[in-house]
Amino acid sequence: MVKKKQSKQVEKIKKTSKSLSLLRGFKDILPEHMKYWQYARNVAHELFSDYGYGQIETPILEQTSLYKRTTGEHTDIVTKEMFSFQDRSGDSISMRPEFTPGIARAYIEHGMLNRPQPVKLYSLGPLFRYDRPQAGRYRQFHQLDFEILGDENPVADAEIIFLSYLFCKKLGLDVVIQINSLGQSESRQEYIKILKEYYKSKRRLLCDDCKTRLTKNTLRLLDCKETGCQDLTQSAPQLIDHIDDDSKQHFVRVLEYLDESEVPYELNPYIVRGLDYYNRTAFEVMPVITRPCDEISLEVAPDFVPKPEPLVQAIGGGGRYDGLIEAIGGRPTAGVGMAFGFERVIEAIRQSGKDKAPVKKPQVFLAQLGEEAAKRIFKLFEVLRESGIQTRVNFSKSGLKQQLELADKLKVPYTVILGQKELLDDTIIIRDMENGIQEVVDLSKVTEELKKRLKSHE
Ligand code: AMP
Repeated sequence: MVKKKQSKQVEKIKKTSKSLSLLRGFKDILPEHMKYWQYARNVAHELFSDYGYGQIETPILEQTSLYKRTTGEHTDIVTKEMFSFQDRSGDSISMRPEFTPGIARAYIEHGMLNRPQPVKLYSLGPLFRYDRPQAGRYRQFHQLDFEILGDENPVADAEIIFLSYLFCKKLGLDVVIQINSLGQSESRQEYIKILKEYYKSKRRLLCDDCKTRLTKNTLRLLDCKETGCQDLTQSAPQLIDHIDDDSKQHFVRVLEYLDESEVPYELNPYIVRGLDYYNRTAFEVMPVITRPCDEISLEVAPDFVPKPEPLVQAIGGGGRYDGLIEAIGGRPTAGVGMAFGFERVIEAIRQSGKDKAPVKKPQVFLAQLGEEAAKRIFKLFEVLRESGIQTRVNFSKSGLKQQLELADKLKVPYTVILGQKELLDDTIIIRDMENGIQEVVDLSKVTEELKKRLKSHE
């Protein structure tokens, strides 16, 4: 009996001490990947400050009704994907699934309408969607979002698209913009009726999600990824044939600006975007990958030139949303914006092989022998760092052999060694890691001696 009780307790302890793991769909960004993130962030900050965009940070938590009234009550995001819960006062709040509604709220709340228009803003940070986790799709992900508020001119749409392209170009990414016009709400409603009729007659061939979309969010049928639904979409009536004349004019002018600035684009009648608030311009940024020559199969003719193939997943998307500010109580204000999925941008940089993320290589390892030497080295580290030398040290290792092995692993050209004798003489040893030659120099001259030697390694 006692034994049974004991083993139960052991089981319980085992269960509670089981190591904890990440939540499904969440991801750690490790130091070795951070260089890409920092690089892409720096490119973004420089580009948007050059173009006069102000950085804005809105809270991660907002009232759930903000997203219901903007993103749309029947959209996938609001119906299925929001992390929503009641706070301690019983109010329904949600973790932001996208940036635009929060930015629009801030625009109204801070009276940005009274500033010279348009107001140009950008933001970078985490978003949360309770999506089905899969490659390139997470429950916490990051976006770089930028918006122009208070400008209905097609040049604003073109600027957003041009900057999307430029951002990719600066990162060395080859992309093509897929673009469409959704027209104004009235003409779109007419089109939706026509589209509904078309799909109704083929209802039994639709996937389960699309059967629901047919009544609640018909437009989204056009960008369903199921092959059966995609086949039907090929012969569906096209939105561009049904949009209002003003929107057609607007679209043509956007395309003219894009031609002028040599942005590569393709017209894609099936781009509808998942959110309710879009009108007129809608677009997505697709990476173009060219397979490297050594991956081409030998059966292929020698003069075969690999054709650029667009990846299935967009790295970003956006469009115009002229009714959004009004929907949450502001004065009618035009708006256009886009967001890049940062995880997908980072993956595209890595896949492109054009890894331009700068890494500072370690140059000097500091080896210390004994407590007193460790104290001096502790101080010397900062002196060298301040003078711009990339320095490494490991105080948990005390033997010289171990420390030299570490220096070897780090591939530093020089190791500086401080032992008992050098401490007494106020000197230090500089060891050339390539040939093992060691020289004794004055401790006070170590920085300039290292700099002199490092110059020959540049
Ligand atoms: P959206 O806000 O849905 O228009 O998405 C804009 C971009 O954000 C997409 O093109 C993706 O690159 C990225 N994105 C959207 N949802 C996710 C997700 N669940 N995980 C990772 N990236 C995402």
